[in-house]
Amino acid sequence: MSSTASAPIYLDHNATTPLWPEVREAMFTAWTRYSANPASQHRAGRQVRRALEDAREEIGLLLGAAVNQVRPDRILFTSGGTESNNLALWGLGDPAISRIIISSIEHPSILEAAEAGEKRGWQVDQVQVSPDGVIDLEHLEALLQEPARLVSLMMANNETGVVQPIQAAAAICQEYGVPLHTDATQAGGKKSLHFREMGVAAMTLSAHKFHGPMGISALLIRNDIPMQPFLFGGFQQEGLRPGTESIAPVLGMLKALQLWEDRRVALNAHWTELRDNFESRIISTYRPAHVHGFAAPRMPHTSNISFPGCDRQALLIALDLQGIACSTGSACASGSSEPSKTLIAMGCPGDHLQSALRFSLGAGTTSREMDRAAEIILNCVHSMV
Ligand code: PMP
Repeated sequence: MSSTASAPIYLDHNATTPLWPEVREAMFTAWTRYSANPASQHRAGRQVRRALEDAREEIGLLLGAAVNQVRPDRILFTSGGTESNNLALWGLGDPAISRIIISSIEHPSILEAAEAGEKRGWQVDQVQVSPDGVIDLEHLEALLQEPARLVSLMMANNETGVVQPIQAAAAICQEYGVPLHTDATQAGGKKSLHFREMGVAAMTLSAHKFHGPMGISALLIRNDIPMQPFLFGGFQQEGLRPGTESIAPVLGMLKALQLWEDRRVALNAHWTELRDNFESRIISTYRPAHVHGFAAPRMPHTSNISFPGCDRQALLIALDLQGIACSTGSACASGSSEPSKTLIAMGCPGDHLQSALRFSLGAGTTSREMDRAAEIILNCVHSMV
């Protein structure tokens, strides 16, 4: 459906994306076809198990995991990015070491899981970032001089879209023998990811960020990495994440990943053009506006802009009334009026913190929507300053 001037414009795809119809179809088929428990020993159960394990392998292959070998990489299905990140932070690496390293711009599902660990006696160190929001690799190396159980660094920031030098970070971590987990929630699907080539030890993906279903995530874990569970009570997934596996969301995630193989290049080019036009129109019309992470490599579907002189909550509400859905930051933190921890870590001045909004594009976003959004945003900003 093409958008009209008054149709709502959804620019909050980093919070979640609409399900692609092909994904819905794949899930509908799965729900219709499979009704047995994949853990059951009878024929119907074995059929679901086979479909589930085939999907697990295909997902692994699409993401560059080593699945076709005697000791394959693990692909654990969990309820979402939050659970996978918590599981990685709590479960990966040598349990005898109680120190971990994360970055100062991680998602709350890493930051707060680390804080919870600190309360139980872990030592947590944070890698700092540059003013453009890029992880400081020299600081990472300095922190690695002391033993650590795990390093966790995100692949693409959910608020700024800044892409982190994960492959270089993985090489450094390997030198010190410390496993690196990467939260690739905002990069999954959109970016071509090769788990083994990146050199990471573990990686989180969440399907609802790439037009797949909510409530399903894949946590990839290299075959040599020690892992402790934090859920108990079943043998499923080697006991590392027990509980009945749900076939339909898994097949939905697989379908979405398959579709990205064909759509990735064109969508990234489309978003780059839309975002660049949108940002240049905003900064050339409202001169004080500032695009966060502008000079850094960024995912093209994310634009985080401060409008000094405006209050971000007031601007968000004004835009919502005009039919534009955007965000003041991470969806998980957007209920609060706290300024963004990511922007604070980037050293943003107060007027930038107070006036920052995130606009995030999806596969269905059109240039007409972006033009209309820029016009409405500029009108709202001018009426407030
Ligand atoms: N990590 C990042 C970078 C995210 O953007 C999100 C979603 N806001 C999550 C983790 C959590 O994912 P989920 O919503 O699937 O729990």
